[in-house]
Amino acid sequence: MSGYENDTLHTQLSGAVSNKLNPGEQVLFDLPSTINPEGDFVTGRVIITDSRILVFKDQTGKTEEFEEEISLSLVEKIEAQTLVGNGRLVVWIDGTPRAISRFAMDHQTHYATAANYITRFLEERKIRPIENLDENVCSKCGRILSGGSKVCPVCLNKFKVLRRLLGVLKPHWPLVLGVSIVFWIITALNLLVPQLNRILVDDLLNPRNADRELFLMVIGGLALVPFVSTLLTILRGRMMVKLSNRLGYDLRNTVFEKIQMLSLRFIDQRKTGELMNRVSRDTNQVQGFLQSQGPEVIHQVLIFIGIAIILFRSNVKLASLIFVPVPFVFYVTYSLRQKMRQMWHRQWRFSDKANSLLQDILSGIRVVKAFGREEREIQRFSEATKDYTDITADNEKKLNTIFSALGFIMGAGHFLILYFGGKLILGEEMLVGEMLQFSSYASMIYGPLQYMTNVPRWFNQAMTSTERIFEVIDEEPDVKDRPDPIRLKDIKGEIEFRDVTFGYFKHEPVLKNINIKIKPGEMIGLVGHSGAGKSTFINLVNRFYDVDEGEILIDGHNIKDIAQEDLRGQVGIVLQDTFLFSGTIWENISYSKPDATPEEVIKAAKIANAHDFICKFPDGYDTRVGERGQRLSGGERQRIAIARAVLHNPKLLILDEATSSVDSHTEKQIQEALQRLTANRTTIAIAHRLSTLANADRLVVLDHGRIVELGTHDELLRQKGEYYKLVMAQKEMAKMQAV
Ligand code: ADP
Repeated sequence: MSGYENDTLHTQLSGAVSNKLNPGEQVLFDLPSTINPEGDFVTGRVIITDSRILVFKDQTGKTEEFEEEISLSLVEKIEAQTLVGNGRLVVWIDGTPRAISRFAMDHQTHYATAANYITRFLEERKIRPIENLDENVCSKCGRILSGGSKVCPVCLNKFKVLRRLLGVLKPHWPLVLGVSIVFWIITALNLLVPQLNRILVDDLLNPRNADRELFLMVIGGLALVPFVSTLLTILRGRMMVKLSNRLGYDLRNTVFEKIQMLSLRFIDQRKTGELMNRVSRDTNQVQGFLQSQGPEVIHQVLIFIGIAIILFRSNVKLASLIFVPVPFVFYVTYSLRQKMRQMWHRQWRFSDKANSLLQDILSGIRVVKAFGREEREIQRFSEATKDYTDITADNEKKLNTIFSALGFIMGAGHFLILYFGGKLILGEEMLVGEMLQFSSYASMIYGPLQYMTNVPRWFNQAMTSTERIFEVIDEEPDVKDRPDPIRLKDIKGEIEFRDVTFGYFKHEPVLKNINIKIKPGEMIGLVGHSGAGKSTFINLVNRFYDVDEGEILIDGHNIKDIAQEDLRGQVGIVLQDTFLFSGTIWENISYSKPDATPEEVIKAAKIANAHDFICKFPDGYDTRVGERGQRLSGGERQRIAIARAVLHNPKLLILDEATSSVDSHTEKQIQEALQRLTANRTTIAIAHRLSTLANADRLVVLDHGRIVELGTHDELLRQKGEYYKLVMAQKEMAKMQAV
């Protein structure tokens, strides 16, 4: 939709649009304008280039008609406004706002991004890369993609994926070889039974040439074959379970390992539920395919080939009869392919939706309970699962009907054999045993044929899941170490931001031209309105993200050159949302230093003012904290997090709103703990309560991503600027709360 280079764009834009472009004019956005002033749905568009806005309206439904152009040099301001159920793009010229396009809400993100981008472009006149607009749309076929994945099940080259999946099997080749041999033997045994039957009927059940010994051997063979075949099938099952489990284990761990290594930018863009799906559902799907469907397909194909050879060798005419319905069945299956694909795809989308909703509700269960909205959530979830169930039931109903009908048609070949075979017997051209053998093989061949009508579906699902797994495995982390990173075992703690600009999307900077030098051991307080960029600032110090422009230096080295292991090893964080893993208090404190001695853990807890309350629990340090530490109070969780940071003994310390939401006694305890923790360490602290930052060496006031003030608490108060306003506002608030 946006940001193409001019050459490719000309091929994608209709003649009417591309004719309007001047040579060298670069198109930045191509936005659909879907509603006209009367409120009807239309298919117009708005093209924004580096110099103009071109508006096209659609009257005929086929060709775009040029309506007007607005030079960007006249535009003072541009905004994407949200109305009820739709939105509009408004530009200000000579102080007057004018709506130039209306659009349905599904294009809101595109318009908002475009408006932000152009606002910045007007300020700087600099073209920046545009990202992340069409992430959920397949770039080839334009279908909407689900599950946070870029894999389009339709455009996917499944055989390429299969080759890769087989590559993953390589390390397990002895097992694969063993399984293949067993497969061949089972197939051969299955094909032997009708032969033995024929010998029995035609040669041995004949009083004239009775051969008692052979008779017993054949009967014995008939009894033995199913027995051996059953044993081998059990063996095959066990081998397959072993193989697929090993593979599932490998895949699951590889995906999980990769997710751990990936940068936050990747994880931010996906819901937790979606990532969980990759680790569990997709790997299960692949494992299931390899364990049951895959082997069965091979088995059926082998049987099919074996029988076809035997049948054609014994009687070409009769054999051909069996295959009469096959082209028809294949034709029907093939022509329904597209439709079936859509059905499964829909089913999948709804299952993803229900899963994500479940994940969302469970993570927010406290909010749900706090507001007594259980009924509503039950309703929401039951609607989502109902949609999914309805669609699944509907799909299964249709598929069942189709496949049962196909099965019947395919079985029709059998009647032809009975008829023609019967005639041959009556004409003494064929023996009864031969006919019996033929008929058994014929009924055996329909199994594989019917089975194979399901194969495209399983194959499709399994390959899509496989590709979704590979997608994560192949993802390159944005934040990575350079080949020979600088090892900094002993960071002193000097941090410098040089002209740093950063945005979660490159075209929407959150921090702009930040310059500051922080001395070792200094305590810096970050203040500013919510959304000003404080958390972003500390995310950059920890190198959760890489800066877009400028550089961050730690002890004089660019942060990008320092080994991440050394950096993270020496940065300690106590976050706003104190996260504890389910487990004991002891495990949570020693998380930062698993080899800590009991003395060290207790000392850290004492420094953090946590030892006393921990000892009051009946289980002391072995108290289980519950999921996310729910069984502890906010203040307790915070002190455990502080103890964890103390034990980590970091050179750089980051505190994000570490003292919010506790009573004054607890706050005092936490303050004391923090003072001990911050002594002699470079500390960057964010706190909502400005009073808690009064003993910071310097305060940095951020506003809309820029540093607007810098100085000590007293200096800034005297300046009577932004900080002063924040302090006053908070005092007012405190007074109101006191009342
Ligand atoms: P503060 O900590 O000062 O409240 P933040 O640094 O959290 O502000 O956020 C600054 C801006 O960046 C906000 O507009 C916020 O919406 C945006 N932002 C924060 N985190 C992300 C993210 N992971 N992805 C996209 N935008 C983000």
